[in-house]
Amino acid sequence: KKPILEVKNLQKYFPVKSPLGRTKGQVKAVNDVSFELFEGETFGLVGESGCGKSTTGRSILRLIEPTGGKVLFNNQDILGISSNQLRKIRSEMQMVFQDPNNSLNPKKRIGQILEETLLIHNIGTKQERTDIVLDILKKVGLNEDRYYHYPHEFSGGQRQRIGLARALIVNPKIIICDESVSALDVSVQSQILNLLKKLQAEYKVTYLFIAHDISVVRHISDRVGVMYLGKMVEEGPTEQLISAPKHPYTKALLSSVPIAKPGMKKERIILEGEIPSPLNPPLGCNFHTRCPYAEEICRTKVPERTEVSPRHFTACHLVNEL
Ligand code: SF4
Ligand code: MG
Repeated sequence: KKPILEVKNLQKYFPVKSPLGRTKGQVKAVNDVSFELFEGETFGLVGESGCGKSTTGRSILRLIEPTGGKVLFNNQDILGISSNQLRKIRSEMQMVFQDPNNSLNPKKRIGQILEETLLIHNIGTKQERTDIVLDILKKVGLNEDRYYHYPHEFSGGQRQRIGLARALIVNPKIIICDESVSALDVSVQSQILNLLKKLQAEYKVTYLFIAHDISVVRHISDRVGVMYLGKMVEEGPTEQLISAPKHPYTKALLSSVPIAKPGMKKERIILEGEIPSPLNPPLGCNFHTRCPYAEEICRTKVPERTEVSPRHFTACHLVNEL
């Protein structure tokens, strides 16, 4: 299978200025992140808030400009292309946010908002656009008469349906969902997750699903990547990563959530201290300040990404010993 998207050594650094405007250093929000998306799959990206998940998603879409690396969409590096070329690719890659409400004009009816998205991408005649909107409303489980309603008349879960409708309406290849169900009640969460799966089967769309909660990510992802302090520390097929995590950080993350599995032995790992500041992060393995297994080499040498079993990668010096 060929990847539809390849992210290679992606970096996003933010300069940090002192009150007098002198540059104090840089926050390495995304620090050499590499992974691939395969057509029709869901890749889940997890990690605590501030680990660089959202920045990774936004950098891929160039909603913010990455500092370095490559983002190959169908073999074309989209970091190098002009804003004109980028506009065409924008319809191929869409984003759904935590609360789409922030980007829905409160004075406009939902039907009109969705039609404007089509208009931006030069899709259809007036009549065709109306038909497309009515159709997509149905597809995301909203009644046709919702066409005339205003954003504030929808619940949180319904607004996520609208966010999805607005992303899907231009027929994208990839949708990046950034904490798209995180603000919802558990029962509404599972409705939206089921809807995402249904639409994926129907539209053959590929998801990059970003969330801090690994038990949510697990339900929808074929593969999972775990980020810590701007780095991807582990990546693998979902069930394998969850039942046999390799990286101490993944183990700690999993030991803090109730994921019941018969026959799965689970040691509780409590991490000491806070996540260090991404401004001047720890040298070597940047997890060494909190890792219960850290050794001398961890303080000086950055661990390389190694394949521990087919398509299961981790970056830890002690991968063969733990
Ligand atoms: Fe822990 Fe060292 Fe592995 Fe980093 S490289 S996760 S500090 S054992
Ligand atoms: Mg975020």
